[in-house]
Amino acid sequence: MTTADIYPGDLEEVPMKLVKYWFQRYDLFSRFDEGVWIDEEGWYSVTPEAIAKDTAERCKCDIIIDAFCGVGGNSIQFAKTCNKVIAIDINKQRLDCAKHNAEIYGVADKIEFIHGDFMELIPQLKADAVFLSPPWGGPEYADCEVFDLETMIPMNGLHLYNETRKITENIAYFLPRHCDPDLIGKLDPAHIVEIEQNYLSSALKSITAYFGKLAVASANLPDTE
Ligand code: ADP
Repeated sequence: MTTADIYPGDLEEVPMKLVKYWFQRYDLFSRFDEGVWIDEEGWYSVTPEAIAKDTAERCKCDIIIDAFCGVGGNSIQFAKTCNKVIAIDINKQRLDCAKHNAEIYGVADKIEFIHGDFMELIPQLKADAVFLSPPWGGPEYADCEVFDLETMIPMNGLHLYNETRKITENIAYFLPRHCDPDLIGKLDPAHIVEIEQNYLSSALKSITAYFGKLAVASANLPDTE
């Protein structure tokens, strides 16, 4: 990966297909101009900073895992509200971007970066909360009327949730806006599940489902103090 692939600082350097995203660069990273790195997939999938900030406030705790950290938009915000972040990604380039971006935001020392497959790492992981922002199956995810997390998330979204419960019941699950809410409720039928709709500039971008203690906005996880 060349620097040009990951740091399209000027509009002239940006491939046509990414121009639309480049115009939203400050929504994605307010400190974009300080040299933020985003690879091509990152442009499509990084969480807008305002949404990542809001999720981080909700997930305030001692140790949180960002299981599919990508270029680090969520990990950076978690590092501001939690004592420690474990940021995992299977893609080394994207993990390098996340590390670099965390340095720009001055929070890299609060993040442990792990290059690996989250599903395989689960037995070794310990944390108070886990943030799941898994692959949604590529751009086609938007083509269907209702997104089925069980069949459309490559590692099976139901299996992913059940495996994550081996770490903690406090899970925040970032999903497409048209994900079937009934299926989300069935992930933990015995308890309250809260589904938050994430709007940016009056457009519904995504939803975040909160489980365990995270589902009750007033409940506190082990403190950050
Ligand atoms: P999208 O469908 O949203 O474009 P991606 O395929 O980019 O999703 O996946 C989201 C992030 O999750 C990427 O950074 C990718 O490298 C990472 N990822 C995918 N599978 C795993 C896994 N099993 N463990 C950890 N990270 C993963």
